[in-house]
Amino acid sequence: MIPRRLHASLDALSAALLILAPSMLGAAPRHRKRLAALGLGVAAYSLATSYRGRARRPIGPSHHRLLDAAQGAACLGLARDVDDPAGRMALRGYAAFSIAVAALSSPSGPEGVTLPPWAAMADLPADLALLRCGIVNVAFIGPPGAGDRGWFLVDAGLPGSAPAILAAARRRFGASRPAAILLTHGHFDHVGALPRLAETWDAPILAHPAEHPYLTGRRAYPPPAPEVGGGMMAEASILFPRSPVDLSQRLRALPEDGTIPDLPHWQWLHMPGHTPGHVSFWHEDRKILIGGDAVVTTRQESVLAALAAPPHLQGPPAYFTPDWAAAAASVRRIADLAPTCLIAGHGPALGGTALVAALQILASGFETRGLPRRSRYLDRRAMPAPGGARMIGR
Ligand SMILES: [Zn+2]
Repeated sequence: MIPRRLHASLDALSAALLILAPSMLGAAPRHRKRLAALGLGVAAYSLATSYRGRARRPIGPSHHRLLDAAQGAACLGLARDVDDPAGRMALRGYAAFSIAVAALSSPSGPEGVTLPPWAAMADLPADLALLRCGIVNVAFIGPPGAGDRGWFLVDAGLPGSAPAILAAARRRFGASRPAAILLTHGHFDHVGALPRLAETWDAPILAHPAEHPYLTGRRAYPPPAPEVGGGMMAEASILFPRSPVDLSQRLRALPEDGTIPDLPHWQWLHMPGHTPGHVSFWHEDRKILIGGDAVVTTRQESVLAALAAPPHLQGPPAYFTPDWAAAAASVRRIADLAPTCLIAGHGPALGGTALVAALQILASGFETRGLPRRSRYLDRRAMPAPGGARMIGR
């Protein structure tokens, strides 16, 4: 992590470089003008930043880092216009530097539990499949070649992932359609392809009633908490859509008794905290959990980790979790289930005894390992400590 004072000096250096270097290097006047404008912009938002996080100036550290990353991205864009190869290289180098500074200045996110590489499952049971759609997973329940309405999809990825999900479903099930699409919750990265998929398959969507307001256009999710740290994903969360989708036409409630229609042996379990109606799907006999975002298996706050996904266990994505007491209770409940196979909403599938042990460590030490250090939603006084005792004060 880059200390705040060093970050402020790097900002001053960036502004100076953008304003002075192009003319010293003999860049074309139009590039010079654009880069000088960008440099003045960097100087302006740096002067308006409270680097120490106290809100005396209008821009806080997390918005500042986002601006750093944005001006880096703008330089990458400008570099495409530059004909001189050396100039292009210099501009790309500068862009990479600014984006790296933005990423490395993030305060660290929740600690979580790191697992050995072999905890990631290369193979899943035959009736399960996981499709990684960028930073988020969708799961298929049903053996390859299952008949029409003989399989289930869990969650629906980011907007734009419908073609990838449809292609994966076609490879696995041919022309058969799912019996239903099961939702762990309604965040934008879990329902992105939902309208198109439900339409294509003419399939019902099943979700917990407490999640319905967000799926019927009635209520938006609470604002994110970019201050949780951990990387650029947390910072960028202020840009993530959180307004409700309207799927009321096909939306049904999961049955109250915990069953899932036409899916014997599986049950849904209410795991609130990340969202009010968040659920996980559980196969008791085989100890398989499709967890959604109640626990995730990668440092979801970091873009790099979310893409590379080394095995790591932590609570829900911290920037989008408004109820930490409920989230902690859900993590403890999952640890008590002791799943030997976990497919989470983000990160690789984990399995074996390493998973069971890591869940125990996370659940029993959730105060230190599970919580972000900062979050507008964090009231540690409200956190029930392990064993039912209550923690008072920080
Ligand atoms: Zn989520």
